[in-house]
Amino acid sequence: MPRPFIAGNWKMHKTISEALEFAGALARRFPPPQERDIIIAASYTALHPLGRALQGSAIHLSAQNVHWEERGAFTGEVSARMLLETGCRYVIVGHSERRRLFGEKNGEINLKVRAALKAGLKPILCVGETLEERGDDKTFSVVRKQLKEGLNNLTPGDIRHAIVAYEPVWAIGTGRTAAPAQAQEIHRFIRQLIADLFGEDLAEGTPIIYGGSVNPANIRDLMAEPDINGVLAGGASLDVDSFSEIIKF
Ligand code: PEP
Repeated sequence: MPRPFIAGNWKMHKTISEALEFAGALARRFPPPQERDIIIAASYTALHPLGRALQGSAIHLSAQNVHWEERGAFTGEVSARMLLETGCRYVIVGHSERRRLFGEKNGEINLKVRAALKAGLKPILCVGETLEERGDDKTFSVVRKQLKEGLNNLTPGDIRHAIVAYEPVWAIGTGRTAAPAQAQEIHRFIRQLIADLFGEDLAEGTPIIYGGSVNPANIRDLMAEPDINGVLAGGASLDVDSFSEIIKF
């Protein structure tokens, strides 16, 4: 069983000084060692100062995106090696906002997953259906396609370093959480798909986390489900008190 994995996705929130203030307070509340993995996904600009401030702490850093090339003429993009040097260990890949607002497709998401792994970053691959797809009974086929294409060409050694986030699009930023049993059903399905691709043992060890309006009031019920190994919280991770409640659950 993976350790509980609690991540906050700050999206386009928090300047460097705001990020440092939050991270300092969080690090004081959760000194090492911790039995849970605690991760903040901050904006690019805050990653390096946070990386220095959080050195030796129990709080780890994630980026929210990465480019798949190692270097080159890609104005505005950031490579995995650049992220690694900031102190970042993780990177969110294929978040639904990137799929929806920036047109990211499974093929390029897979390139990002592989580039992250090659550089030594752990990708947090996001999958999840829209409300319309759920209504059309397409949840399983959408999640299967996103997962299979997102994990394409990964080796069993790679999957040990990957995290999968099930984030139903209709639950993100809407205050509408998936019922724990509803999320569990998809998490089980994801674990089975990983088992089919990489074997039972590796599937059991892969953290599969849930995202979509997680808050201090619903975290316990979600974490009580056997295949929910953690959460990716958006809005509720912006406040140090509510994020701390989620970490403690
Ligand atoms: C997210 O951004 O990944 C997310 C789950 O957001 P929220 O918790 O605000 O729904």
